[in-house]
Amino acid sequence: MDHRYVWHPFTQMRDWLRATPIVIVDGHGAVLRDDSGREYLDANASIWTNLHGHAHPQINAAISRQLRKIAHSSALGFANEPASLLAQKLVETVRQGSRPLRPLLTKVFFSDDGSTAMEVALKLAFQYAVRTGHSRRPEFLSLDSAYHGDTVGAVSLGHIDLFHQSYAGLIFKTDKVMSPYCYRCPFNRAKPERADAREYRKCRWECVGKVEQKFAARKKAGRPYAAFVFEPLLQGAAGMIPQPKGWLGRVARIARGHGAQLIADEVMTALGRTTVPAPGLLACHEEKVRPDFAAIAKGLTGGYLPMAATLTTNAVFDAFLGKYEDFKTFFHGHSFTGNQLGAAAALASLELLGSPESIAARMQLEKTLHEELKTLWPLPNVGDIRQVGLVAGIELVKNWKMRAPFPLREQAGIRVCAAMARRGVLTRPVGNVIVLMPPYCTTAGQARQMVRALRESIIATFGSAPCSA
Ligand code: PMP
Repeated sequence: MDHRYVWHPFTQMRDWLRATPIVIVDGHGAVLRDDSGREYLDANASIWTNLHGHAHPQINAAISRQLRKIAHSSALGFANEPASLLAQKLVETVRQGSRPLRPLLTKVFFSDDGSTAMEVALKLAFQYAVRTGHSRRPEFLSLDSAYHGDTVGAVSLGHIDLFHQSYAGLIFKTDKVMSPYCYRCPFNRAKPERADAREYRKCRWECVGKVEQKFAARKKAGRPYAAFVFEPLLQGAAGMIPQPKGWLGRVARIARGHGAQLIADEVMTALGRTTVPAPGLLACHEEKVRPDFAAIAKGLTGGYLPMAATLTTNAVFDAFLGKYEDFKTFFHGHSFTGNQLGAAAALASLELLGSPESIAARMQLEKTLHEELKTLWPLPNVGDIRQVGLVAGIELVKNWKMRAPFPLREQAGIRVCAAMARRGVLTRPVGNVIVLMPPYCTTAGQARQMVRALRESIIATFGSAPCSA
């Protein structure tokens, strides 16, 4: 029935129809099971969404409890208890992480997924810039290789040609600026080493200079950017590309200095994923960056239900207040905004996230992953291994000494992931980068199994033996 009727996202359906799909029927913790009873480890947390594992008893119970009352009622015209409590919890938890930073994020606009959360931030920032007289035709600056979702506004902020070029006639223009990618940076004068490229890079922060230049050019032209849009700490869909320590703080200061609003796309990075022991929820607090907008999605409900939140400030909120007939209303919303089931799941997930047991488990898992990933360095087809918290990207290359990339048509990442699936580990590549993003409940043994499957799959796929240099 899948082959006959379902069209899968980001999938060449001709290839899909040639293969027999893995049909997932249940899951517990970090384990997924298919219809033949075979078990797999969920090594990308079901496309970066799952936090505490599948079928978690506390989240299951919260959803069941809520279900006995009501699944959904509209936020257009009515309040509901779980969404109100969730908004409060988000604001308070984010505040813990940012003390004493200002401006505070005090208001929450709910939507359905990462794309809509970014769409909300974009529209609010646009209107805010107009209403405060910052610009009549607000323009946005985002990062090279950025991905912020698939709705048209979010696509407009994106700069991955492979995904976004096909919509060139449909989207509005945004500007882009160099983002740090130490492993392949034209300004990095270091020869490849067997270590994370951020650690041995030789540069003069030229990537920060590029941001400075962009803002300065706009100032000169009298057309300042309304907002600067970024993923904090690492860019996910760009290829799990981490920013060297200090980059985000520096560029955020530049953007602020030029009066731009800051839009943090925390769709992937928030909720302990990249800042494992931190008390708050946002990755950008790691660099003491205070955004005007933070978009949270993916793991908000623990990866159970589609729900997202865009957090913003009182200043933005106030710009939309007025007499009814002034029509300053934020004319935007979704049928499922503030969904009660989703909010109940999210409250349970946030409760778990803040528990000492979860924090300890995350710290342990981060360490285990770090130790295990070291075993991949002897493989000549491993160019870079980059880990930020509980996210790891392993960049495959033809030859590590040359940093020689595989052409995309060779499907290096796809082939390695297929080999991993045969070894009982499921993940999805981003081009030639293999992603390991385990649920937080993953045991040390399971983390070892994930990396072992990856190691064996790389060797089996490229037929290359580990070497000592
Ligand atoms: N922003 C980022 C940083 C993302 O990684 C994604 C999804 N991969 C999105 C936005 C879009 O989220 P969604 O797929 O939930 O719409």
